[in-house]
Amino acid sequence: MSVLVVGSVAYDSVVTPSGNRQDSLGGSATFFSVASSYFTDVSVVAVVGDDFKSKDIDFMKKHGVDVSGLEVCQGGKTFRWSGVYSEDVNTRETLETQLNVFADFSPKIHCEQKRTPFLFLANIDPDLQFSVLSQMDERPQLVALDSMNYWIEGKNCSLNKVIESVDLLFVDEGEARAIAGEFNLIRCAEHIMRLGPQTIVIKRGEHGVLVFHGSVIFSAPGFPLTNPLDPTGAGDSFAGGFIGYLSASGDLSLNGFRRAAVIGSVMGSFAVESFGLDRIGSLTVADIDARFRAFTELSQFQPLDERESLLN
Ligand code: AMP
Repeated sequence: MSVLVVGSVAYDSVVTPSGNRQDSLGGSATFFSVASSYFTDVSVVAVVGDDFKSKDIDFMKKHGVDVSGLEVCQGGKTFRWSGVYSEDVNTRETLETQLNVFADFSPKIHCEQKRTPFLFLANIDPDLQFSVLSQMDERPQLVALDSMNYWIEGKNCSLNKVIESVDLLFVDEGEARAIAGEFNLIRCAEHIMRLGPQTIVIKRGEHGVLVFHGSVIFSAPGFPLTNPLDPTGAGDSFAGGFIGYLSASGDLSLNGFRRAAVIGSVMGSFAVESFGLDRIGSLTVADIDARFRAFTELSQFQPLDERESLLN
């Protein structure tokens, strides 16, 4: 099976306690597509300016990402985002968002892409997300959505319309609270489920993720790292691993979602280990398998048998 993603393809400038990077390749669709390319076929729908470097297109192609839906807008400038991270890299502040070519972008989905079974609406203007969803010939098997405060605050009505139409929502803690107007994360998930999506994945940075799937809650830890360098793109890489695995396995059962959450955590943990896409873009199958095994080790324990008790 395969995945279609609409989102940002960007140049990012970040300041973290470990250093700075100016104008490095980033964007929600870029991190997502590279992370998911290890598992499945993935096509990107996005726009860049004529300042976009051909080596960056080659990098995506090298990962087998289908870039036929990546428009190059002559005379325009690529989307740019800059942010600064706290000392413990757990929180960040956006310094600047320049939409540039995304301000007037109108995505057009090719005929062959209109029947893609998995659709990921990565972080971008919710009107663009909705336009992609409504161009699909038939409802994909799974439609997942990500967003961020910039759109939750700036385009709330449009975002709500998209939330109502999707099966799965990825959000971080702050975004979940902003959407639901609640503090408790269980209540946030219940609130969002009433809007439409039946699976809510709440990302909690180094504290891992909570997956709310119907009435079940599943928790996956964050991978303990000695030297987290740059968390930019960790959420999108998480989503890339998660959706990439679901697409490859076709397993949309509860167990499929549990495994997807751990694979997402594997890919998110790699993203944090370097600036930009350096690490997530240079993995081997052995690296991914080894980290998945390490996750199993990290969170495995002896369960109680049905008739067993801890106290006798
Ligand atoms: P993440 O760290 O996974 O939440 O995503 C970071 C990526 O999102 C960066 O590479 C940015 O280029 C991109 N980004 C930041 N702000 C926005 C926005 N308002 N719309 C779309 N993409 C954005």
